[in-house]
Amino acid sequence: MSTLVKKTVNFTLNGKPLSAPEGTVILDAAKRAGVFITNLCSNPKLKPFAACRTCMVEVRENGEKKLVYSCTHPVSEGMEVFSDTEETDRYNGACLEMLLVEHPLDCPICDKSGVCPLQDNTDALKLYNGRFEIKRRNEPSIKTNPIIEFYLNRCIMCGMCVRICDEIQGVQALDYHKRGYQIKIGTANEEPLECEFCGQCITVCPTGALMDLTSEARGLAAMFTNTLTTCNFCSWGCTIRLETKKGRLIRIEGDETFDLGINEGNLCAKGRFGHGMVQNKKRIQAPMMNVGGSYKEISWDEALEMIVERLTSQVNRTGPESVAGLAGEKLTNEELYLFQKLFRGVLGSNQVNNLQNLRAPYVNRFQEKCFENGLVSQPITELENADVVLIFNSDIPSEYPVAGNSIRKGAIRIGTDILIANPRRVVFNNESRVDIRMTFKPGTDLAVAARLARILIDNRLIDTARVKAALPNFDALVQSLAPYTAEATEQITGVADSVLVRAAERFGRTADRFILIGNDILDTGQGEAVLDALLNLALLVHHGAEGQVSLYPPREHCNSQGAQDMGCTPQYLPGFVSIKDAQAVQRLREAWGVKDLKLDQEDRVSNLWQNCSTGKIKLLYIAGEDPVRACPRPAEVVDALKTVPFLVVQDLYWSETCQMADLVLPTCSYAEKDGTFTNMTRHVQRVKAAVLPEGEARPDFEIFYDLAEACGKPFSTFDVPEVQAEIQQVAPVFKGLFPGDQSRQWVPESAGTAPGFAPLPGPQNDGRSEEYPFKLITNNHMFHIGNYTQYCKALVDIGPECIAEINREDARKLNIEDGDRIRVESDSDAVELPVAVGARSTPGVVYIPKNWPDVPVNKLRNGHEGLVSVKISKVG
Ligand code: SF4
Repeated sequence: MSTLVKKTVNFTLNGKPLSAPEGTVILDAAKRAGVFITNLCSNPKLKPFAACRTCMVEVRENGEKKLVYSCTHPVSEGMEVFSDTEETDRYNGACLEMLLVEHPLDCPICDKSGVCPLQDNTDALKLYNGRFEIKRRNEPSIKTNPIIEFYLNRCIMCGMCVRICDEIQGVQALDYHKRGYQIKIGTANEEPLECEFCGQCITVCPTGALMDLTSEARGLAAMFTNTLTTCNFCSWGCTIRLETKKGRLIRIEGDETFDLGINEGNLCAKGRFGHGMVQNKKRIQAPMMNVGGSYKEISWDEALEMIVERLTSQVNRTGPESVAGLAGEKLTNEELYLFQKLFRGVLGSNQVNNLQNLRAPYVNRFQEKCFENGLVSQPITELENADVVLIFNSDIPSEYPVAGNSIRKGAIRIGTDILIANPRRVVFNNESRVDIRMTFKPGTDLAVAARLARILIDNRLIDTARVKAALPNFDALVQSLAPYTAEATEQITGVADSVLVRAAERFGRTADRFILIGNDILDTGQGEAVLDALLNLALLVHHGAEGQVSLYPPREHCNSQGAQDMGCTPQYLPGFVSIKDAQAVQRLREAWGVKDLKLDQEDRVSNLWQNCSTGKIKLLYIAGEDPVRACPRPAEVVDALKTVPFLVVQDLYWSETCQMADLVLPTCSYAEKDGTFTNMTRHVQRVKAAVLPEGEARPDFEIFYDLAEACGKPFSTFDVPEVQAEIQQVAPVFKGLFPGDQSRQWVPESAGTAPGFAPLPGPQNDGRSEEYPFKLITNNHMFHIGNYTQYCKALVDIGPECIAEINREDARKLNIEDGDRIRVESDSDAVELPVAVGARSTPGVVYIPKNWPDVPVNKLRNGHEGLVSVKISKVG
């Protein structure tokens, strides 16, 4: 909640007393009260515009009567509003009639038919017989890009697409062109659309002027069955609407009802156009068994029998700790819960983990430290009301795209200050008056965060006496910040101290603050220290300044958070409680009916790959993960998977990991199953099936259920609601959090044991060598994440190729031009790909997105912690 306080004003609407926050326009206040006023160009996300002129209302205030546009006129104390007088209907009707002069009556073949505000308004004003001569436009349909079609004959010039592209997306790909009767919406010089392809323009278009080409004109919106669910790509967790017809998934839309989920209908390209991965013939169609290196189809019964036989005999021969499970971060909470229950409760093995915890267990420790220090953080729906947002090492439009929409909305509405710390000059266009860029040398994240803390203290931007009284270790923190002087930090980071001082001043002021942390910090080799430094920064303002501060651990996939919360780690039980919590263990014993549940075993999964290679783990079960592609230690992973005596992999698509499995099982996508995901800000959100499973695929949920039964220890819960009830029983933190369509944030039961500040290590050398003079930065691409988006035709159409980015200065020195092919080589491997030359990468940095199978960028790292040093040469 912003620290700006708004008064409430009282007014009447059609005689009914109402109240609304000061500044609310009449149209929005009426909507909240359930009163319909005709309009075509208003959207609560956008600045008032008054283009369509169809929302006129009568207002009486201070003894005066006047007609005003309800989308721009704010309510005021004592105001009387009338929305349905003869005069307002006549005025609004006349404006609508003029729009209908040009608008073709091709409703039977228009995508928007049935959900079209133009139809609704025409009906509301009973405009069945127009008075004016019809004069249609005759524009051709424009299809110059693979996924968005322009059909300008239906355009009513409301400007919604232009405004959302500018205000919320920050892209400005569309604008009004020409003037008078010639005016039309389009791209500059009618060039093909080149943008972030978020498709927001399609959602807000009140007519069928902008259409989703990926739906291939397979039906009208009114004929589709709609299923509200949660996006299965990044960890932001947007609510999406799956539109299906006759069992086929036709398209995905945002839900603009504004009271569901966290995204107010905003979606990115992946969320909106990434439906091609669901009903795809390339999916694994049936269980497959490895017979001498080639795979043959077997039945589900045969597959499950074989797994159970191997699991039980292995447990009997070498003990439960010799069988291990790796949980995918895209499974639902209920599936993850059953996966760890299968291992702990049925097989007696505590050897269960997930890739994020395997790589960076300190991220979960960071979350725990936040709670212990009383930083529970607000629901992310408050991001748009933040006074200050610090974006730390995250390329927001690629990593958490819809977060950018909320931040831009805040910048427009309440003047959010935007502070961006990143080693690349990431693009984040917005209308903020304060937009501070801290572009630091790669690998110096810690120095930037530490210096900001030191400025808060040295420049007395916070009340240090209050801080010291509130938390232990303040003096130790101050001592550890000693090396981070203005001169030293400027030299280490390359950021002028005056910029850091200005950022610290904005961050330290009375404000409601959010810190968004990117997954890139995990690649710095100092991830834990960087998280500690950001937590210190948050604690300093939490205790030493006015206003709140919210920060969340970085998470990558749609249910990375859920994998930790549901206990798919050797350290935590469901409910994110320590394995050492005797009460929590007792709750599991009672709920599972396992009296001898023993979890205090040697931890073999924090070192999973080595323990597979050395024979300590004899059976590995991977559910929905491709570690060969996703893990920064691919050679180690390959060795482990080749060595482990029995490997089961279940997934949607065949992967390099499947290629080493003894048994591969086909599982369901998010659109084929029920459950919940938990986003990176701990909002538990519904996942709902919209189509039947592809081929013989089964939900992971059912597979775990059948395995437990075949092991002779069946689960006592039979469906998703029953599993949710059990989760609430064993993990009280989830009580009341499985709420149907609503999204609720889980909050830890107890917080505030206050371990205090973490003293920081000194600055590290960036380790640049003469032989390998570049630093490699990798992350998810704007159109791709994980290994499923490569199966989405629309996303491949707009993002077909992996392209590296280097700075112009470096390109000049290496005699490389934009579009050339380059070789990027580390001391362990090399990749070749085309390059884009520009300013986004700073000198000495090469950026390569990590989502293309033909550019396995993780092989360049191959186990190195810290930023990888590489050299670049031109190919050919
Ligand atoms: Fe999906 Fe993330 Fe895009 Fe939202 S921001 S639509 S969750 S990929």
